[in-house]
Amino acid sequence: MFKPFALIAALTLAVSQAAPRIGEHPDKYRLVFDLGTDSTYQVKNAQGSLTIEFQKAVLPVENRSLGLPFIQNYSSTSTTLQLVFAPTYTQMPMVSYLPASGGMAARLIVDLPKEGSGSAVPSNPTTEPRVESPQPSEPQSTAPQQASGNPNPETLYPDSLDPNIDVQNYTLDLRVKPEQNQLDATASIQLKTTQTVSRIHLAFYGLKISSVKQGNTSLKFDQQSRKVTIQLGKTVPRNTSITLDIAYSGVPRPVLEPGETYEDGIGWKKHKNGIFVLNEPNGAMTWFPGNDHPSDKATFKVSITVPSKYLAVFNGTAQGSRNTGNQTTYTYQSIEPMATYLTTVHINQYNVERSTLNGGVQVRNYRPVGISKTFQAAELAKLPDMMRFMESWAGPYPFKEYGVIFTEHPTPYALETQTLSTFPNRPLKDWGFLHEFSHQWFGNSITPKTWSDLWLNEGFATFFQDLYQYPREADLKAFLKTRHTRNRTQQMKPPYIKEREELFSQRAYQRGALVLHALRYRLGDAEFRRILKVYYNTYKFSNASSEDFIQTVVKASGKTDLKAFLESWIYGRLVPDFPELYR
Ligand SMILES: [Zn+2]
Repeated sequence: MFKPFALIAALTLAVSQAAPRIGEHPDKYRLVFDLGTDSTYQVKNAQGSLTIEFQKAVLPVENRSLGLPFIQNYSSTSTTLQLVFAPTYTQMPMVSYLPASGGMAARLIVDLPKEGSGSAVPSNPTTEPRVESPQPSEPQSTAPQQASGNPNPETLYPDSLDPNIDVQNYTLDLRVKPEQNQLDATASIQLKTTQTVSRIHLAFYGLKISSVKQGNTSLKFDQQSRKVTIQLGKTVPRNTSITLDIAYSGVPRPVLEPGETYEDGIGWKKHKNGIFVLNEPNGAMTWFPGNDHPSDKATFKVSITVPSKYLAVFNGTAQGSRNTGNQTTYTYQSIEPMATYLTTVHINQYNVERSTLNGGVQVRNYRPVGISKTFQAAELAKLPDMMRFMESWAGPYPFKEYGVIFTEHPTPYALETQTLSTFPNRPLKDWGFLHEFSHQWFGNSITPKTWSDLWLNEGFATFFQDLYQYPREADLKAFLKTRHTRNRTQQMKPPYIKEREELFSQRAYQRGALVLHALRYRLGDAEFRRILKVYYNTYKFSNASSEDFIQTVVKASGKTDLKAFLESWIYGRLVPDFPELYR
């Protein structure tokens, strides 16, 4: 993933004064109001409503439904907002306030516990004017309750993973009406149990399941906000192969974190002329049920049926298309295992450019017809050079295909979707393309075991991006010295991340890259390259953890002191010394 700062700033500006933004959590909805300026306010809780009065004019004038079942009406004047609840809603809203800082507008946050989510912390019913600045806390996810089985190794997104199953293959049949954003689908999921189980959890969000079958037997299932629990009807021993056929439909919507808009949302998204999908980290559940976690990679066979004026694109190998009436079905196959977050679907009208790389890798690049044929052509012309560069560092390109696809719409980030990187229609430097390309080795072929290990993706991609951007050693050193000094001043926390809200922060990227730069200067370039290839070859097409990386480096180098060295760079609270940069 590559998230340019400029885009974040632009989105921040674009959403200010659009009130409110709604984010969904497992246990609550969070309404975020961007305020034009800081202001004191009073909270007035009454039976069935919440009123907040500001001292200054901070809101746009609105009167509408918010689309949440338990809110009957939302209205605001420039100084007052009011939420009117359905009579059945008895939860206590909680109000907090973030003052303007660092270019972000002041925000008022209203947390509305979902019905049946247990007792909420009562809001302060005071009518005294108050301005407070608590950091709104993230709800703590709890690991799924397993009657038996593996402890869940994932602490950041535990609900996305069922550790008791190992999916082998997803066969998805997607029928899409792009104008209505309507999806009718079946998912045939071939899996193996890794423990004795009587039920299975799959991540799934926003669409309605009509049936779950195992062969001819209908299975009982229960859909919750972000998952479906499927009862197998009996206790099944470990190592049993099961195929589940799940039929579902609806209008997919992206997953939003608190305070995010549709633009920021992750997963399946409709835009003016079509549809695109960016899943990292937990958006795959917005369009198919699955074990939506990087540790469970599987093969995919996907067919997408769309009106014939559209082209539908997926990762892997294109297997052709067939027309039925005014509909066209496109079929794709990924025979190399792929994590769910690396899958993508794009539906639009495209110009397609095909070529080959290395005399064998099939390239397909897609530009929506609304985008100029010359857009980023100079950067893409460097693909053969990027291939030579990456193969010199890591060894042969892992897959049989590559390509890039541009979206016609702004996206929250560029993404290394497997064999087909996704880019927004904003210009990027060549090293932005190199970043996503390098993920095909580090991220896609070797995939992290948990989200906390994300620096094994982003630290590596940033490392190669740095090397590509600064081919002269002296320039690289000067650049790294600036970064190291800055990260120290910022007291940047370690790249191994245990705080969900910081997962895609510069900790994984910049401090993650410094792990590798420091190791390279410590070992020397030739020895570093040798060990990097050992690591790659050990874990390609599979998963690795930070511990796997440390152990591989220690073993391959024969240097036991590298264990403490790497641990301080990967887990240490302080940014370690990097003496080679200051000589
Ligand atoms: Zn990345």
